[in-house]
Amino acid sequence: MSFDFDLFVIGGGSGGVRAARVAAAETGARVGLAEESRMGGTCVIRGCVPKKLMVFASEYAEAMREARDYGWDVRIGGFDWPAFRSRLEGELDRLEGIYNRLLEGSGVEVFAQRATLADPHKVRLADGTELTAKHILIATGGWPALPDLPGVEHAITSNEVFHLDALPERLLVVGGGYIACEMACIFNGLGTQVTQYYRGPQILRGFDGEAREHIAGHMIRHGVDIRCNTNVTALRRTAAGIEATDTAGEVRIFDQVLFATGRAPNTAGLGLEGAGVALGARGEVPVDEYNQTAVPSIFAIGDVTDRVQLTPVAIREGMAFVETVFRGNPTPVDHELIPSAVFTQPEYGMVGMSEEAAREAGPIEVYSTAFRPMHKGFIDREDRVLMKLIVCAKTRRVLGVHIVADHAGEMIQLAGIAVKMGATKEDFDRTVAVHPTMSEELVTLKTPVRRTGGDCSGA
Ligand code: NDP
Repeated sequence: MSFDFDLFVIGGGSGGVRAARVAAAETGARVGLAEESRMGGTCVIRGCVPKKLMVFASEYAEAMREARDYGWDVRIGGFDWPAFRSRLEGELDRLEGIYNRLLEGSGVEVFAQRATLADPHKVRLADGTELTAKHILIATGGWPALPDLPGVEHAITSNEVFHLDALPERLLVVGGGYIACEMACIFNGLGTQVTQYYRGPQILRGFDGEAREHIAGHMIRHGVDIRCNTNVTALRRTAAGIEATDTAGEVRIFDQVLFATGRAPNTAGLGLEGAGVALGARGEVPVDEYNQTAVPSIFAIGDVTDRVQLTPVAIREGMAFVETVFRGNPTPVDHELIPSAVFTQPEYGMVGMSEEAAREAGPIEVYSTAFRPMHKGFIDREDRVLMKLIVCAKTRRVLGVHIVADHAGEMIQLAGIAVKMGATKEDFDRTVAVHPTMSEELVTLKTPVRRTGGDCSGA
């Protein structure tokens, strides 16, 4: 049977674009790709990239306050949100252009419209065109999930947050995960009065407990009003702003309410079930280790599979898909020991297990230190850095590294290599410190502060 394409990709985010490009340019496959919104997807258009640029913008006020204490004669003026936003939009246009040119240069035929599945080898475009493909790759990503509550239509999500007309004076952030915590810190740094409601007892559930406490303490000290065990029950727009009622019945007014309450796989109306792919409980596309669905011609990668919602993972899955299907070399993606960072202020970089998870797994030693780094101590700031290693008491392998510090994202990338290689505590100890740095503490931690089954501080 002959097909219009060897591969048709639905979704032009990081994973889909990479798979399409590599399949077309490096294996000679005839590839089509449909994207209904902007090329680049969540990471480039409404996620990692604009978020990180906002992090940079938001760090200047504190940096200027610190500069003053270091002796600089600086006056901190206001933040010009429209000027920043225009520049940000220009940057996103530029990056989108690069993505489009890369696809074009690789010989991928791009369809700037929505595509759905018509059958296991056929996609239907929004204009009614039907195209056949030997393989179809679903890379449609995720979409912010909003709880069902009265007035939720007055709230914004991370999709809208980069395009606000004005910087809100009072912002309520709902949620305690990556996006909520990052956005709370960003707006706090930009001068907004930020309140964060989180339904559980402490933000960043699932991460290392000590790191969570450390970050929350820092955020509160720097002005974020974190209210745990609190959720929104209703929103109402009034002349004064958006009125939010919380679970305790308290009513407060905000200029914007941002829900960062998780992201759901973007599969609604895609036609997957009709083509024979049964969706999972959260609407995700179930796949095997080769990214293949139960229908042999249909594959899926990235957030739509609801495995690990991170850009570099989607890219790896896209590459593994091409290797498997177009080079005949079955390649699973290794989802173990993925380093990642939460771009809160201060940043949190982690790889491997939290102390809590490691305790479940077996006897461990915990090495941890919280100290004032030189840069902050000099100007009498209370901000401390946390460096923590979780070590298996039997094998001596480092099971987890947790760093809460400026540039922790950069540090954890490197520590991640050692952990991935199976480094032991003694390997860390054999490495000479780089002095004076914050990260030298990682190789100079001598005494465990805790061992499984009890506190051994001072032992
Ligand atoms: P997360 O899953 O990280 O966090 C969702 C938060 O919303 C949790 O605190 C959750 O609470 C809370 N929540 C869920 N449902 C409700 C509800 N009905 N009412 C109130 N609160 C609710 O999702 P995010 O949206 O923050 O991010 C999505 C994913 O994107 C992340 O998991 C991450 O993989 C990725 N990401 C990565 C970044 C990075 O690498 N730096 C940055 C941003 C996103 P609870 O804990 O109680 O379930």
